[in-house]
Amino acid sequence: MSDYHAMWEKLGLDLAAHDGLLEVLPPLYQDCILSQENRPEGMQYFDFVFSEVHGLRIKELVDHRASGGIVVGTFCTYVPEELILAVGGACVGLCAGAQVAEEAAEQYLPRNLCALIKSSLGFKLAKVCPYIESCDLLVGETTCDGKKKYYEILNQLQPVHTMELPQRKDEADRRLWREEVRRLVARLEEISGRKIDEAALRDAIRVINEKRKALLRLAGLRKCDPPVISGRDALLINQIAFYDDPVRLTEKVNALCDELEERRDGGISIGGAHRPRILLSGCPMAIPNWKVPTIIETSGALVAMDEMCTGIRYFRHLVEEGAGDLEGMLDAIADRYLKIDCAVFTPNRERLDHISELVRDYDIDAVIYYALQFCDPYTVEAFQVQQELEKERVPFLYLETDYSSEDMGQLTTRVQALIEMVETQKPSVF
Ligand code: SF4
Ligand code: SF4
Repeated sequence: MSDYHAMWEKLGLDLAAHDGLLEVLPPLYQDCILSQENRPEGMQYFDFVFSEVHGLRIKELVDHRASGGIVVGTFCTYVPEELILAVGGACVGLCAGAQVAEEAAEQYLPRNLCALIKSSLGFKLAKVCPYIESCDLLVGETTCDGKKKYYEILNQLQPVHTMELPQRKDEADRRLWREEVRRLVARLEEISGRKIDEAALRDAIRVINEKRKALLRLAGLRKCDPPVISGRDALLINQIAFYDDPVRLTEKVNALCDELEERRDGGISIGGAHRPRILLSGCPMAIPNWKVPTIIETSGALVAMDEMCTGIRYFRHLVEEGAGDLEGMLDAIADRYLKIDCAVFTPNRERLDHISELVRDYDIDAVIYYALQFCDPYTVEAFQVQQELEKERVPFLYLETDYSSEDMGQLTTRVQALIEMVETQKPSVF
């Protein structure tokens, strides 16, 4: 990475702490991502983007603001990116995937709170995240209670707009959510000084739909057996999709897909893990959280699909493009985001059905359920997922963990036992 110290200093980062963070990332990236054999050439772009995660992309955001644009940070897949784009904003997903300044965060938050929320506040308090420091506005949502209450604290440090997300999907909920989408429009217009017009919103819908279509194309290629891309590389792309420029990312994902189709047709697969094929389901895995996929894929299996917010839940549904006017487009956006099947919803039958569908479509041998400790929605919903998979006689392994590396040995033993069991074809539930 070139010398960006002056830029980081201007953003108010703690340079010593930030240098410490940057020292940790390259060896981790080497171990989890670069060490894989026979990766597609198209992954070079994503390796480059990651190598410049705090450099070039931040410079782009700084330049964007200097030319009058705004930067908006999000934490969840429920925040409509289209609206941010339509006011000339750049949308960045704030990662929170590593243990940072945990003790400092625990001065504000209880110890028994999920690692993702503590990490998010840790990054803010330690002043090591150039993304959050580049934001004109943060947009939260009332998904789980932990996040909802956390945003009140974060709002004391930086402006947060919190969207009221209903937890059912009836008509009254839809009306509320459509109103919330309009409330966000008003806040974005106020911050940016720009009115959302029909042409800009139509264009934004198209741009974000194209990104989703490219990610869906990539997801489709993960059905190949032998595989043409690893689960870790697919996860990395999904993680980068939250913060990279959407038009450029779409181009690069499509170029990678062209290469993967050639590989498939030429019988070229990735090195290492081929079978069993695992569906990873549960909590999101933000950068640089590659712990569980790395354990799975270095134990001889393949993560064939991820049923999580850093996986197919992020891009599965498109916004309906047929709406004739601005109000119709806003409703279409609201309706698309309300389809997301996060575990905070009740009942959440769509998620169970989708998991069964993925098991069939991706020829899945076993499901590994990834739950962050203290995440009520996902830890509790695991029971129903397990029940559903028992009916279909699909092996299920429940892993509850956090961001530390202390349980690596124990997790590896459990994953290896599952893989061995699947390989010897002895269906049971762990
Ligand atoms: S798991 Fe739910 S709350 Fe968390 S990012 Fe996804 S949609 Fe949002
Ligand atoms: S992982 Fe669970 S507890 Fe943590 S923010 Fe997401 S939904 Fe909330």
